[in-house]
Amino acid sequence: MKCPFCADPNTQVTDTRENEDGDVVRRRRRCVKCDKRFTTYERIDLKMPHIVKRNGNRTEFDHAKLAGSMKLALRKRPVTIEAIDAAVDRIEARLLAMGEQEVPSEKIGELVMKELKKLDKVAYIRFASVYRNFADVDEFAEVIREVQTRPRRGKADKGGADPGHDLFGG
Ligand SMILES: [Zn+2]
Repeated sequence: MKCPFCADPNTQVTDTRENEDGDVVRRRRRCVKCDKRFTTYERIDLKMPHIVKRNGNRTEFDHAKLAGSMKLALRKRPVTIEAIDAAVDRIEARLLAMGEQEVPSEKIGELVMKELKKLDKVAYIRFASVYRNFADVDEFAEVIREVQTRPRRGKADKGGADPGHDLFGG
């Protein structure tokens, strides 16, 4: 801790005490160089990590957006909105607990699939094969729409594209 008076990096802690809730630590310090006294308050700082997309861009974790994507994935499935919100809460808690400043978007994908597996096996199976191909929540929503609008009929155009072709990037 740098002294605020002379900027010397060497300060001594002369007293340490927590507040009643134990979430703020108050420290009395003395500068070794100029002998001035000052107090610092240290607080636990829990922040959501930034999500790093595959292209290297960083984005904020968006609870509402992820919940919206999961709702799309679970459309017409017997899963309540409350259960989906609780799943997104768990994903958020896991990300916080990692204590990292940045988390790759693939990690979110894994957590989403884990929750989807618990919520609804049918939806899980539907998305398990494609989840590795989405790089962020926006792409997840796109994948969901594509999977849900993909025609079931097996009409094979000669030399035509496989409807899943774009999803698998091949
Ligand atoms: Zn000083």
